[in-house]
Amino acid sequence: MADASAPTPMMAQYLSLKREAGDCLLFYRMGDFFELFFDDAKRASAVLDIALTSRGEHDGAPVPMCGVPVHSAESYLARLIRAGCRVAIAEQVESPEEAKKRGGSKALVRRDIVRFVTAGTLTEEALLEPRRANLLVAACELRGTCGIAACDISTGRMELEECDPGSLDATLARFAASEVVAPEGWDAAPPDAISRPARDFASDEGEARLKSVHGVATLDGFGDFSRPMLAAAGGLIAYLDHVGRGSLPLLLPPEMRGSDSVLAMDQATRASLEIIEAQGGGRQGSLLAEVDRCVTGAGARQLAEDLATPLANRAAIGRRHDLVHFFHADPLLRADLREVLRGLPDIGRALGRVVAGRGSPRDLGQLRDGLAEARRIGDYLQPRGDKPDLLSELLPRLGGHGALTDLLSRALVAAPPTERGSGGFIAEGYDAALDELRAVSGNARRAIAAMEARYRDDTGIAALKIKHNGVLGYFIEVPARHADKLMTPESGFTHRQTMANAVRFNSLQLHEEAGRIAEAGAHALAAEDAHFEELVGEVVNAREKIAATAAALARLDVAAGQAERAAEGGWCRPEILDDPCLEIEGGRHPVVEAALARAGERFVANDCRLASEDRLWLIGGPNMGGKSTFLRQNALIVLLGQAGGFVPAASARIGLVDRLFSRVGASDNLARGRSTFMVEMVETAAILAQASERSFVILDEVGRGTSTYDGLALAWAVAEAIHEVNRCRCLFATHYHELSRLADSCPSLSLHHVRAKEWKGELVLLHELAEGAADRSYGLAVARLAGVPREVVARAKAVLEKLEKGRAETGGLAAGLGELPLFAAAAEAEEEQCDALRDRLHGLDVDALSPREALDLLYELKREA
Ligand code: ADP
Repeated sequence: MADASAPTPMMAQYLSLKREAGDCLLFYRMGDFFELFFDDAKRASAVLDIALTSRGEHDGAPVPMCGVPVHSAESYLARLIRAGCRVAIAEQVESPEEAKKRGGSKALVRRDIVRFVTAGTLTEEALLEPRRANLLVAACELRGTCGIAACDISTGRMELEECDPGSLDATLARFAASEVVAPEGWDAAPPDAISRPARDFASDEGEARLKSVHGVATLDGFGDFSRPMLAAAGGLIAYLDHVGRGSLPLLLPPEMRGSDSVLAMDQATRASLEIIEAQGGGRQGSLLAEVDRCVTGAGARQLAEDLATPLANRAAIGRRHDLVHFFHADPLLRADLREVLRGLPDIGRALGRVVAGRGSPRDLGQLRDGLAEARRIGDYLQPRGDKPDLLSELLPRLGGHGALTDLLSRALVAAPPTERGSGGFIAEGYDAALDELRAVSGNARRAIAAMEARYRDDTGIAALKIKHNGVLGYFIEVPARHADKLMTPESGFTHRQTMANAVRFNSLQLHEEAGRIAEAGAHALAAEDAHFEELVGEVVNAREKIAATAAALARLDVAAGQAERAAEGGWCRPEILDDPCLEIEGGRHPVVEAALARAGERFVANDCRLASEDRLWLIGGPNMGGKSTFLRQNALIVLLGQAGGFVPAASARIGLVDRLFSRVGASDNLARGRSTFMVEMVETAAILAQASERSFVILDEVGRGTSTYDGLALAWAVAEAIHEVNRCRCLFATHYHELSRLADSCPSLSLHHVRAKEWKGELVLLHELAEGAADRSYGLAVARLAGVPREVVARAKAVLEKLEKGRAETGGLAAGLGELPLFAAAAEAEEEQCDALRDRLHGLDVDALSPREALDLLYELKREA
């Protein structure tokens, strides 16, 4: 890029590609490197921690540049994607010779963007985490309903869904997508969504695209999709088309999940229960990490999806429980199955790569091995008696690939390479012509070996060797000191290259044999390439069946893993009922229990017994006494149970839950610019608005984030509303003693506390739940336990005594609360007053009033309001 006011041809080409790449980093191929320029170079060099240099000038200023070698581009790409970048890859699409032929010796090699690499559209093994699904989601709104299309292009699974705009956030939270796309100009688009042209989200286009992808005339066979769903599908496919530059990845027929068939949870609930990720981010410390005993990546991905999407349908849950029970009851069978699964390749993802046109011979080998193994698993499980329904349904999906596996077995060598370009993956005996070509090169190679021996004899140079490299091809090499002998024309050798210690020659015979090898090699490569395409074609034809096999294997792995986990921890099969109860005996929190076990401590199991006539438990007791843990463990037991697994309890009867809410602890959303208290209230508002009689809610320390009076007043009102209006099952932890008075007015509320005792002046937390109100708060004892200096604690004790004395005299913080009308009665009284006002206003003839009368009336109304 020489200095010039007009851009050089290369710069012009670069700038035009960059315009096409938009806000993606442009990887511009130059020989063995991808180069980045300008701001792209600055950003990439910072993320990758590689040198930022410059090259030439543009508009009078040096052009910043950095580059990564093509052969290791994948690992750099992975880091850029993880850092939130998207990358456009511009390849040379013709060779320098072709360019010269086209436009003379100075012609620039043509380059094109061949692909966009984005977080949601990866298929490469190196760029994907084996145990995590990688979802791309498209969302849009059509006439007041949101459509959502989600797809994991590494396996081709696609799901369509709709929801009302109010629950869009919650629905998107379930998918935890790597990338979200939404139409340009949509106000309600998720904040980090990538804008795409609104026309991509037309529902009729979406329908047409789905039909053409699956080659069907109607979508009826897949499900009854709504217009918003089809619009979202359209946006998704259009984006994939754009990213893949016209070639679409694997897309399986869309599945539809009615929102009433899954347990609803909003983002706050998911985060606070630490289902897939722990609060600090990362898998460690999450429920998933504690439950996951899957031995395959596909199983782990399925389990993560199950936990993120527990079911709300008794029959479906029961089918999963039956399968877990089947493996739980037979440890030997389970161990055998897991042993086989452990060695299984990830056929879902291999299929994804092959269909996306990025497959390698190794991927075909994985499909061959995986499918053959799947059949063996099927044969092994088939003869078992008492098969649960779900197993009987999965078994047929494990087989049926006989012809394909036979073909792949005959065609491929035992361990095919990841590189397709250098051949060597088609097995002997598969193609006679190919074998013939290989024989030709084999013979020539043997001829060359014989030639080496003969030349040594003829020349008397024992150190003479025939070698091969990429630049010269075959050549004869002798140490420099023997070279003179061969330099004469009569020797039959022609000089090619002089090195420091050696000299290299050619000979006519060697040239001929090498030519034979090269020609046969080129034909053999072409033949292998053609076979590769045929095999890929066969795999593509069978893609839906292969995907079904992969899904069945993942389901088996999940069930066997759940059984393994249950056996390890003494978990039980929960009973799922319609009656809104929650009866857990000996319940435990799996994550806290495991953490305690690592520290050599025991977890104290606790019971929970909610029923429609006792559905709200108010739980008091000292800080650190185990209140949050108890709340969460019950929520997790519901979640695990409805996800189809066993639960950490001695026994569990769970009345089917439609929505699960968790407001636990002060979440640290401060970074997002909202005060803790505001966040708490927003989340509480959502619960009051949405929880139904079938919901289960855990609320921890509502009102903690504000002043004592405000906090108590809010906690009181929220508890009352939950009891009177929502009527859901609820565990409510609080440190306000005053709330215990609610027990007098709320018949379905009962008081509980976590036990503690003082022993020799020290506080002992028993982590044991007991009936009745907590007798005192132990706040000072906890402070001492935490290491607050003795003098400070002593002073606090003096202050406390003073306060308590005052409280005794005035009736305390909650004096008079007992006389408050009940929540519903209060609301009713307010309503009555409004009605009276409305009646009076209606009856008024405004025109007949004098200004004076009107003013008097206003004063009167104000007095009464
Ligand atoms: P609280 O909400 O009452 O302040 P937490 O539920 O946060 O208390 O529990 C505090 C700590 O006590 C936990 O981190 C855990 O180590 C321990 N703990 C809680 N519940 C139990 C239990 N059932 N058995 C043993 N230890 C427990």
